[in-house]
Amino acid sequence: MAHNEAVDVVLVGAGIMSATLAVLLKELDPAIKLEVVELMDSGAAESSNPWNNAGTGHAGLCELNYTPQAADGTVDIKKAVHINTQFEVSKQFWTYLTKKVTFGSSKTFISPVPHLSFVQGDAGVSFLKERFKVMSKHHAFADMEYTEDKATMAEWMPLMMPGRPADEVVAATRVINGTDVNFGALTNQLLKHLTSAPDAQVKYCKRVTGLKRNNGGWTVSIKDVNSGNTREVDAKFVFLGAGGAALPLLQASGIEESKGFGGFPISGQWLRCDNPEVVKHHQAKVYSQAAVGSPPMSVPHLDTRVVDGKKSLLFGPYAGFTTKFLKHGSFMDLPLSVRAGNIGPMLAVAKNNMDLTKYLVSEVMQSMEQRLDSLRRFYPQAKAEDWRLEVAGQRVQIIKKDPKKGGVLQFGTELVAAKDGSLAALLGASPGASVTVSIMLELIEKCFPNKTSGEWAAKLAEIFPAREKVLETDAALYRKINVQNNIALELVEASSETESYA
Ligand SMILES: Cc1cc2nc3c(=O)[nH]c(=O)nc-3n(C[C@H](O)[C@H](O)[C@H](O)COP(=O)(O)OP(=O)(O)OC[C@H]3O[C@@H](n4cnc5c(N)ncnc54)[C@H](O)[C@@H]3O)c2cc1C
Repeated sequence: MAHNEAVDVVLVGAGIMSATLAVLLKELDPAIKLEVVELMDSGAAESSNPWNNAGTGHAGLCELNYTPQAADGTVDIKKAVHINTQFEVSKQFWTYLTKKVTFGSSKTFISPVPHLSFVQGDAGVSFLKERFKVMSKHHAFADMEYTEDKATMAEWMPLMMPGRPADEVVAATRVINGTDVNFGALTNQLLKHLTSAPDAQVKYCKRVTGLKRNNGGWTVSIKDVNSGNTREVDAKFVFLGAGGAALPLLQASGIEESKGFGGFPISGQWLRCDNPEVVKHHQAKVYSQAAVGSPPMSVPHLDTRVVDGKKSLLFGPYAGFTTKFLKHGSFMDLPLSVRAGNIGPMLAVAKNNMDLTKYLVSEVMQSMEQRLDSLRRFYPQAKAEDWRLEVAGQRVQIIKKDPKKGGVLQFGTELVAAKDGSLAALLGASPGASVTVSIMLELIEKCFPNKTSGEWAAKLAEIFPAREKVLETDAALYRKINVQNNIALELVEASSETESYA
């Protein structure tokens, strides 16, 4: 066994998270030596692949679960505002990169697609109306439109209105400036740009199999999946960007902060339509409400997807249960992740979430006809022959110790970092790829605090003229940054009005 190459940073996994962090670090310190290690033979082969996620550029424009309604009818928009400004931070990074010849065009990964919310029934309509009233007062959602008029809805969603009962109570909101993002294309563009610089490598068909502390850093064991040979690499910093498989690697690190975490894998499926005669009548991402008692990732949506220049429609997701942590993982992933430190929280979650278990079982048992029935609540005249079932990516939800309940299931993401800042892992799945840049900035601030307040500060300010907090409150600055990003990413055409901001 060969021993021991040395780099500054090892990043495990070639998905959107590692690709973003690697490029950010290289921008901040061009002399940094880093290696991305990926077990598949290409980048974005798991959740970041365009057909494994919905490609929604989450900006809080249409996702009704980001704006909960309290018992007194008030709607809380804090989460939607935060995700919106996080997405503007992602767009700032992509805007910065489009000025580099080695990065390429934004047209390959981001496309303008309006974001709509659609509700049925009196309760849904009164919620959407209240939500619109509050949201449209905030500068991030000032362009939102609301309608209860069916003719207007037929213009906004031509596939979705024909075939509905005349007396059906429905309403919708629309924001024209939504996006569809091909996170796979973006990941691969980032990796290509990364490796155009010296001392930055991406190694495919290599599995990280172990992590050991060494003096001031980590020794990472890397196995070639074809030859079976193992090499060891010393790194000062390790990022576990292994998607669903980050949990077992975090456990292998043995860091104190990893104790008590468990994972609950949820699989997904979509209905996909490539028939151009159907696809051309829907140019939107339309999100509705999840059934009462079902988890947030089950919110149904009918989406325009733009992948490799071709448009398709996706409907779903339909959730399911599996014990795999990755789509290409092993059924032993879940049982092997059980430890003395997390068995308590895992059993507590199993006991307290029987509704979720029942929901997942019912989703798994659905026939194609039942799946089409769900689609027809969106698109009443959908024909079975235009749709096929596809398997989506895995989401491994976080199970965490809880002093009162023993353990809780968490649907967001969690950055777990060693106290000395030498290792970090990203657990969880939502809202995911859209807010990668904010999550990786948080990681950099947590693990490299001296550098972010010191030698990296000026570069960070150059790449990110405005961060989340200020964008949430400064309407004029928000509008300026938003317009600049939209022009640079070719999401809008520059007009004289927009140019004055750019
Ligand atoms: C059904 C579904 C719908 C979604 N919809 C959206 C959406 O609309 N918008 C949005 O913003 N986000 C969405 N997401 C979330 C988004 O896809 C993820 O947050 C994001 O892709 C995660 O990126 P990642 O880099 O962490 O993981 P991944 O893309 O999964 O990459 C992890 C990589 O690590 C590799 N790996 C694992 N173990 C090892 C090892 N031991 N050694 C070497 N390599 C390893 C894997 O092969 C993989 O390539 C969705 C996710 C799912 C599942």
